[in-house]
Amino acid sequence: MTDITAIPALRDNYIWAIHNGQYAAVVDPGEASPVLDFINEKDLQLNAILCTHRHADHIGGVAKLREVYNVPVYGRQHPGNPHISHGLREGNHLKLDTLGINFDILEIPGHLDDHLAFVAPGILFCGDVLFGAGCGRNFEGTPAQLHRSLQRLAQLPGDTRVYSAHEYTAANLRFALACEPHNQDILRRIEQVAQQRAENLPTMPSSIALEKDTNPFLRCTRPELIRTLQRQGLSDTDELSVFIALREWRNHF
Ligand SMILES: [Zn+2]
Repeated sequence: MTDITAIPALRDNYIWAIHNGQYAAVVDPGEASPVLDFINEKDLQLNAILCTHRHADHIGGVAKLREVYNVPVYGRQHPGNPHISHGLREGNHLKLDTLGINFDILEIPGHLDDHLAFVAPGILFCGDVLFGAGCGRNFEGTPAQLHRSLQRLAQLPGDTRVYSAHEYTAANLRFALACEPHNQDILRRIEQVAQQRAENLPTMPSSIALEKDTNPFLRCTRPELIRTLQRQGLSDTDELSVFIALREWRNHF
């Protein structure tokens, strides 16, 4: 049976390990040592490295891992990421035979230009684009691109598990509640996340359905959220204007 485990790394990153008792692939190894510890402890053989985007806290461990395991590194080719051995683009498929997983590749720019999502039935690796109750910052590309990327992820089936690359959910939920103080789903999730964090458990994966109920960046057409922003001076209430105002507010919340 294939399992997916969070390997905590750096300050608040998760390196996701896909493994089945014999083989493993890792997503976004920002450092090597926790991955090597995990693999050795479970007696696994590393077969592949997947990169969602080129930020250092996602690729910082790739070179060292490849000194030990000379495995393919899958991701979008970019001058800022020298590690990619197998470039992927929108519409490509990535079949990991040893793990029995076949990913569809989506290009989801808006955080960085080279950002990819790895999608398999019930599984989404979305790096820094979609977080628990939040979304990534718009470092490259336009806010409209980030919005579109999030909308594409929101169209996945509701029971798709969302594997984000950071533990940001608690802070994001404080912002979500400021947006929609009467949203009962947000209040419930705040309690659940507080419990998980008290036990030092990851709050991810969540699900697409839960994100649609509690993530303000997927709720830009909701009346309460729009009214909150209007009180802060928002005039245009089309979905993209709401999204841009929301992202801007979150940057200094
Ligand atoms: Zn990033």
